[in-house]
Amino acid sequence: MSQPPDSYGVVGHPVAHSLSPFIHAMFARATAQQLTYRAWDVAPPELLQRVAEFFAGGGRGLNITLPHKIAAVDLAQQLTERAAHAAAVNTLAAQDGVILGDNTDGAGLVRDLCHNQGLTLAGSRILILGAGGATRGILAPLLELQPQGIVIANRTAERAQSLAAAFADLGTVGGTGFGQFDAQPFDLIINATSASLSGEMPPLPAAALTPDTVCYDLAYGKGDTPFVVWARQRGCRRALSGLGMLVEQAAESFELWRGVRPATAEVLAALRARQG
Ligand code: NAP
Repeated sequence: MSQPPDSYGVVGHPVAHSLSPFIHAMFARATAQQLTYRAWDVAPPELLQRVAEFFAGGGRGLNITLPHKIAAVDLAQQLTERAAHAAAVNTLAAQDGVILGDNTDGAGLVRDLCHNQGLTLAGSRILILGAGGATRGILAPLLELQPQGIVIANRTAERAQSLAAAFADLGTVGGTGFGQFDAQPFDLIINATSASLSGEMPPLPAAALTPDTVCYDLAYGKGDTPFVVWARQRGCRRALSGLGMLVEQAAESFELWRGVRPATAEVLAALRARQG
């Protein structure tokens, strides 16, 4: 008798909007892997029990999305170095009898910026707006590329400052409030706030960007996000949403689970067509 396919999924709250089932189904088809991938809406009080049941029932791996990425650190029995540094987990994998927690967000962003977009970030000035879970995940991989420096600006300045202090051993990184940093142009501005989700734009001095500044919104949705619209209106030639990062972080998770790296270009093109 043939074995049932290995079981994977994404856990979030809400999760109905998630594109991960579509992405992983395409990866599985392209790499001829037999697996199922579902979305589970799990409220915070049920997280521990539902994840434990999933793995006890033979589940092989989960993606973890909002609002559970920080709580998921405690669900893992072992953490990769990048997940430990980020103190946030977006991928769980059953490996050798242990539940491993990883964070593939930063690697996904760097892959999209450097491989798909062809950027070189060594020596660059980077501004990150926001100091939440996503910023935690992307800081170490960005600092590894040896930019001249990273400024984290956040609505709540103290969160930006404590995050900068936590990563200061990896490179030049400072934290501040919105409107409190010197508005010299940056080479790359990353919007890692969730302001786009409510149709808002974090306050940002126009002098922070030139037409050559690359603007990257981690958020994505149907059409352009407010941050992408804002950047284009100010003459920015390259303003991008986070779909590329989404697909690349998913490819990292898939490789961790299955030991095979899926190609991403076709999946990204399909998503862009779908999202408009
Ligand atoms: P989070 O932990 O909830 O952090 C939210 C951040 O946004 C905080 O810094 C918060 O500031 C700030 N913020 C919220 N509303 C704001 C507003 N109206 N104006 C200015 N700042 C505001 O969220 P997260 O996990 O870091 O996620 C951030 C974004 O990244 C989300 O849009 C998420 O979808 C996206 N993301 C995308 C990918 C991808 O693969 N493309 C992966 C991960 C995350 P305070 O500290 O002052 O509250």
